[in-house]
Amino acid sequence: MNGELEAARRQVAEAGRRMVADGLVLGTAGNVSVRVGELVAISPSSIPYHLVNADDVCVVDLTGEPLADLETPPPSSETPMHLAIYADTHAAAVVHHHGLSSAAVSTVVDELPPLHYYALQLGGPTRVAEYATFGTDELARSVHDALEDRTAALMQNHGAVAYGDTLDRAYDRARLLEWLCALHIQAHQLGRPRVLTAAELADVTRHKAERAAR
Ligand code: 13P
Ligand code: ZN
Repeated sequence: MNGELEAARRQVAEAGRRMVADGLVLGTAGNVSVRVGELVAISPSSIPYHLVNADDVCVVDLTGEPLADLETPPPSSETPMHLAIYADTHAAAVVHHHGLSSAAVSTVVDELPPLHYYALQLGGPTRVAEYATFGTDELARSVHDALEDRTAALMQNHGAVAYGDTLDRAYDRARLLEWLCALHIQAHQLGRPRVLTAAELADVTRHKAERAAR
């Protein structure tokens, strides 16, 4: 197996442990994948992260077929969702978690109102993918649709998903979404939060572009 794929399997195992340490998942919830060319290294299904080493990380092709000759447990039940994201984006990594704030907010809104300009780091106000049973093609489709022009989505009554061109970027976005959801909850506990307007968000985008051009 090539070194890049081995490194990806190590990264997936490490990210799983990090999700537990960061409180983004409990038990075996969530999953992580990294794409290497036409292959995807993805966490095994339903195995506690502290027991997952690089050798346990599954490798599938872009149709979900496990790599022959590799003795691993079965891949994550959400493999269809990960593959749907790789099929239609430049993602090199996908992180799915059940962070408490993300899961809570996913039960009450269709789109996360932009209370903070950091929403732009996810491509704009985060949509909530319509509910479907975990691990189904239907859920993969609804997440795919919610991700149009976005790098993260909430999953109704379930959790959150984010992608990036590196695992670090995907992971940072997954954490940022959890933070934005925690902000949403806390702000609503204080009163009725002011929501940034489309014009205010456009100003931020313009301002960032001007700074970058300096
Ligand atoms: P897996 O353990 O099969 O990856 O499932 C966890 C999960 O979060 C399903 O949505
Ligand atoms: Zn899940």
